[in-house]
Amino acid sequence: MRIKEIKPYVLTSKLDEPFYFSQWQYDTRKICLVKITLEDGTYGWGEGYGPADVIKAGIEYFTPFIIGRSALEHETIWQEMYLRSLDFGRSGIFQAAVSAIDVALWDLKGKILNQPVSVLLGGVKNPEIHPYATGLYFERVDDLEKKLVDEALEYKKEGFKAIKMKVGLGIELDTQYVKAVRNAIGDDIKLMIDANHAYSYKEALELALKVEKYSISWFEEPVSPEDYDGYKKLRLRTSIPIAGGECEYLKHGFKRLFDNDSVDIAQPDICATGGLTEAKRIASLAQIYSKDVVPHTWGTWIAISAAVHFVANLDKNPGRMYSDKPVMELDRTENPLRDEVVRHSIVIKNGVLTVPKTPGLGVDINEEALLKYSCDNVKHFIK
Ligand code: CA
Repeated sequence: MRIKEIKPYVLTSKLDEPFYFSQWQYDTRKICLVKITLEDGTYGWGEGYGPADVIKAGIEYFTPFIIGRSALEHETIWQEMYLRSLDFGRSGIFQAAVSAIDVALWDLKGKILNQPVSVLLGGVKNPEIHPYATGLYFERVDDLEKKLVDEALEYKKEGFKAIKMKVGLGIELDTQYVKAVRNAIGDDIKLMIDANHAYSYKEALELALKVEKYSISWFEEPVSPEDYDGYKKLRLRTSIPIAGGECEYLKHGFKRLFDNDSVDIAQPDICATGGLTEAKRIASLAQIYSKDVVPHTWGTWIAISAAVHFVANLDKNPGRMYSDKPVMELDRTENPLRDEVVRHSIVIKNGVLTVPKTPGLGVDINEEALLKYSCDNVKHFIK
């Protein structure tokens, strides 16, 4: 059970089709994975969300404090990392390194005990999940509205019951595109919008009031993550539920969000906010404040699988005999690192995701693809 080696990998891939959102353009994907190996050769995989090179440095900082520990004592290790970073990184990227290690320890724990992570978290309360398609990013094409509509129809054809689209190009254009997508997909598909904090409170309110009639399930990151009051004022002025939290870290960050009554839906990223260990605590905190939890998920099937096991274990809040399946984010944008490097055991059929019963996270790595995309081998296009 003793940890022998902790090895971070930074992977990168150039995209065929660059895409952009309200803040900047993506033309490459870059990610930090971590492999933790025990003395007997058993290994687990984790992933951090955020600037990959910095996460790698964080993992290397924590490594000497963790080598030789029992992999089953993930909370003990978590606390060691928390205390080792408290004075310098209570929030932010240090916690993504904590998260990557923590997720790998949960994967290991599952393999050691031959149980899926969702069972070890306490049980599978939600064996089926509705993944929603995250896509509808912007591309530099002649007819962006057509591109968005065609992509939304593709998700509908694939069976998705919910779709999230980007906004943040300005009130008029956003309204035009939301209207076009809603009209194209019909009324039986949930539609969410995500501004990636592009707007001031007044702008976000104007947009919210203009698109309310298109039955928007939530408005994500309408304003700056620093603007807790703006979030709250917006919540009180629109019927659209307000979502946010992918920039918050640890339960303390979410307490700030909840104390300010800023959101209806909290979106912790398991691979940034402190791993599965802390995400479970955040879910308990959210319950106390009567907030929903829909984790933010980006990256490879390691991050997605961690989110699947987490959502499978989420309490129904409130409980009732018949309730909707919980939703979770499934990024559909181009990402060779997600699709080529990580093998997974998740099955999605007709828009329903079945929680895997394989031990740990249920993932493994294609070593050939890992080496192919490793930054140690790919130097020519790294920014
Ligand atoms: Ca988002």
